[in-house]
Amino acid sequence: MSRAHEILQHVFGYPEFRGEQGAIVEHVAGGDDALVLMPTGGGKSLCYQIPALMRSGTAIVISPLIALMQDQVSALQEAGVAAAYLNSSLSYEAADAVERRWMSGGLDLLYVAPERLLNARTLAQLNHTHETGGIALFAIDEAHCVSQWGHDFRPEYLQLSVLSERFPDVPRIALTATADHQTREEIALRLNLTEARRFVASFDRPNIRYRMVEKDGPRKQLFDFVQEHPGEAGIVYCLSRRKVEETAAWLAEQGVKALPYHAGLPQEQRAEHQRRFLREDGVVMVATIAFGMGIDKPDVRFVAHLDLPRSIEGYYQETGRAGRDGLAAEAWMAWGAADVVQQRRMIDESEGNDTFKRLASNRLDTLVGLVEATDCRRQHLLSYFGEAAQPCGNCDNCIDPPKTLDVTDAARKALSCVYRTDQRYGAAYLVDVLRGETTDKVRERGHASLTTFGIGADVDDKLWRSVFRQLVARGFLAVDHDRFGALMLTETARPLLKGEAAFEIRQPVKKTKRLKAGRGR
Ligand code: ADP
Ligand code: ZN
Repeated sequence: MSRAHEILQHVFGYPEFRGEQGAIVEHVAGGDDALVLMPTGGGKSLCYQIPALMRSGTAIVISPLIALMQDQVSALQEAGVAAAYLNSSLSYEAADAVERRWMSGGLDLLYVAPERLLNARTLAQLNHTHETGGIALFAIDEAHCVSQWGHDFRPEYLQLSVLSERFPDVPRIALTATADHQTREEIALRLNLTEARRFVASFDRPNIRYRMVEKDGPRKQLFDFVQEHPGEAGIVYCLSRRKVEETAAWLAEQGVKALPYHAGLPQEQRAEHQRRFLREDGVVMVATIAFGMGIDKPDVRFVAHLDLPRSIEGYYQETGRAGRDGLAAEAWMAWGAADVVQQRRMIDESEGNDTFKRLASNRLDTLVGLVEATDCRRQHLLSYFGEAAQPCGNCDNCIDPPKTLDVTDAARKALSCVYRTDQRYGAAYLVDVLRGETTDKVRERGHASLTTFGIGADVDDKLWRSVFRQLVARGFLAVDHDRFGALMLTETARPLLKGEAAFEIRQPVKKTKRLKAGRGR
């Protein structure tokens, strides 16, 4: 039996490695760098914990979340591993004791918050340990925090490149569950891991069934959905605290064991609700996204979204909390055009700079592309994570294909407009040109004289947007993030442009009066 296996069984009590764990452990234990992309619950921790025990010296684990750090360290200590952490939650005396233990070589693993790692004192201590060969490896957990455009950006993560500069001979392993192409490249670049071997686990969660319905009395729709899971534990995500409370109260009135959870509730109440969710059967937690991170409950049978998540990443993370035990689970979402409008407004009114807003808006478009898709949802999700897949047979579109609308003509006009304007603009501008709006920009750029100017005046703005989103979602157009989100034609677009293929989108659902009155809920 290999050394790694021995540690896996005797220290951690597991018979076998999962997926690529074994290969990752050998690679890092052998002194090489790695970039590990694995979904939440995939088993990232062992990938550095076991090499930490195989190599001499202390492994330094950089982690941004104090609560998770504490959990991990307690679990390691229970398994008999010499582990400790340094972060702002420790008193001066306690931190001092940890440092002394570290300096005397008494630790296998030391978890540190990034800001702590970067202070002069800790860097000096690292230098000192390094001189005596005392750093086993660096593990950079939640590595996507280095991405400036993500939700979890931590400026200190950008400075972690000092590790490779100062300690080039110490192996580094960066890990994340956030793995869209852009973030992946950003991690590799910013952490000097372009040469590192990449381990990419599949992000598929085959036991989760995806279902998205258009809003039409969302409370009732939610209740009907929850009724399909009697006595089962689930999470219902809402965007605002107020909606969390209202929804939880309403569900409770209908006899559902529903509890609210959001960051504005008193600490004791939150802890109590979380405790009940974990221990009691069949609790439905109605929550903002403040709930879920680091919660390990294997038998969550459903995750429902009453509001549009902010991104595919977010959706994937949140729905990923269902069915960790591998048994059948459901991810259900109710969405409406008004949600899209609301989120777009939130982005416009946010404090971010233009680049931030543009990226947030592209992210929203990608998500809406998934929501509006007429073909397999799982294929869309996985292609976002760079994985090819067959239609899954376990999502609403596979099970019950939606009614579609033939928009071949509009799609062709859209593509030709992209071409005529030299593939330099985003959807909003292209729609102006197609609809024949003589805006200042259109005039400045002389686009009013194009043959495509105004050829789409008969199609409304909303339909145009969804044609563009679907053209992007299905790979007919690519977004150039380096050029302000410009849309470009891809090879896939050729047959459609030449009139050899048809293009259909989801039949827009009946426009209810409610929508017209400007209220989607
Ligand atoms: P991640 O950090 O990727 O979200 P964790 O490292 O927390 O995942 O692991 C998720 C769960 O899977 C934990 O409960 C862990 O103990 C368990 N686990 C990890 N590796 C194995 C394995 N080889 N065999 C059995 N269980 C494992
Ligand atoms: Zn499917």
